[in-house]
Amino acid sequence: MFRAILIDKQDGAQSARLAEVSENDLPEGAVTVRVEYSTLNYKDGLAITGKSPVVRKFPMVPGIDFAGVVESSTSSDWEAGDRVLLNGWGVGEGHWGGFAQKARVKAEWLQRVPEKFTSQQAMAIGTAGYTASLCVDALIDHGLTPDRGEVLVTGASGGVGSIAIALLARAGFEVVAATGKASEADYLKALGARQVIDRNELSQPGKPLQKERWAGVVDSVGSHTLVNACAQTKYRGFVTACGLAQGMDFPASVAPFILRGVSLLGIDSVMAPREPRQQAWARLARDLDSSALDRVSKIVGLEQTLQAAQDIIGGKIRGRLVVDVNR
Ligand code: NDP
Repeated sequence: MFRAILIDKQDGAQSARLAEVSENDLPEGAVTVRVEYSTLNYKDGLAITGKSPVVRKFPMVPGIDFAGVVESSTSSDWEAGDRVLLNGWGVGEGHWGGFAQKARVKAEWLQRVPEKFTSQQAMAIGTAGYTASLCVDALIDHGLTPDRGEVLVTGASGGVGSIAIALLARAGFEVVAATGKASEADYLKALGARQVIDRNELSQPGKPLQKERWAGVVDSVGSHTLVNACAQTKYRGFVTACGLAQGMDFPASVAPFILRGVSLLGIDSVMAPREPRQQAWARLARDLDSSALDRVSKIVGLEQTLQAAQDIIGGKIRGRLVVDVNR
């Protein structure tokens, strides 16, 4: 038996609890992993609270990522003792995930934990940090360079935002952080933001074309914020869109795209192929120092994730919440 968070659905109502689960109930997969740490992502908050239909099968163990040690493997790619991590692939949505002491998954879903990181640090980064790195890679791979000007990061105090600031600052960009939490200005500056602005400047409906300011944008907020960010992006600038913390809608005009040549780059971490995943983790291993990870993360036990899930949906979490599944 092992401990896990279980999400169940009865008579149309969804509920989540801490449960004892039998190893015989683990899903099919070539590799069984002794999970050490997972992390609470926004999507896990949606799954546990049931606020969005993220979970596609019941009962479900949530947790879209985890890091741990291979216990057994029928795949030649992995052997007992290997340090592995997993991000996405529908884990925690359609296949049992990381909020458990054990997981069983497909061999090709796993990656090695970079040498530099402990399992705990890998999950302080988690899917949010890996997605931030995919966003930064997308901007730079499309040719964005620091001399082009300021880069805006929205949802700045969140998981994606916090790590994006640290990575962009490290790559030499002048970062402007948009946040709803004025009290977090020092935290955001310590991560590398040059300037902090109020997210209300971006969250209301605005004109289709506005004064050009951003050379690039990392947006994890969507809705009017993303629309305004596009409308303020400089000629031939780049905007990455990865999130929907404000909303899934995109009430935009095509003006920034057809009159200023702005490019909107979509970022998906769940089904991203191996190569961009490895590139994103390589950037994290190279550019993130562990002091930044300590600043952005806090550890909770399995049971505490039930309350923390409410908090992340309420926008009350700063940085990353690491889940110690053995606590
Ligand atoms: P967090 O909850 O950690 O951060 C989101 C941040 O957005 C909050 O901290 C807050 O920052 C800001 N925010 C919250 N509510 C609102 C609102 N109503 N209007 C404007 N800003 C708001 O989540 P993550 O960083 O983990 O994830 C961010 C988004 O990215 C989520 O929507 C998530 O689903 C998505 N995501 C997508 C992935 C993909 O593969 N495409 C992968 C990972 C995440 P502040 O207070 O500083 O303004």
